[in-house]
Amino acid sequence: MTDKETKAEELKKYKREWNNKWRKEHAEEYRKIQRECHKRLLNKVKNEIFSLLGNKCNDINCLVKGRCRDKRCLQVDHVNGGGAIERRKYGSNVIKYWRSVIEKINSGSKNYQLLCANCNWIKRYNNNEVRRGKRYKSTITK
Ligand SMILES: [Zn+2]
Repeated sequence: MTDKETKAEELKKYKREWNNKWRKEHAEEYRKIQRECHKRLLNKVKNEIFSLLGNKCNDINCLVKGRCRDKRCLQVDHVNGGGAIERRKYGSNVIKYWRSVIEKINSGSKNYQLLCANCNWIKRYNNNEVRRGKRYKSTITK
């Protein structure tokens, strides 16, 4: 190892230690920063998926005039169901999950669509994807 490399290593080590110390001393602040970062990243990834999927509800019978485009209500739906199982594979790593979805859409997958919350629930209800579907179906009529 050359002198320069040793110095670089030392500097790296020093930075790492300093960071660790800072994190310990500012645990609360650090968590806050991490949360913010995560939120921003999640937003970015979600925005990417939304534009890949057309930025609006995909249901032609959407209750919102001109189909819902409000990002607060739009949800990624699995055309053939099975979203929960797929999601579980990624555990709490939501960003990794969404990135995998982006990859699949980019390689031509037609398994995903955007639905607004209304249309998504109606679809789930009709397909009996609601957990208590059977009991629901006997009591709810349109
Ligand atoms: Zn809709």
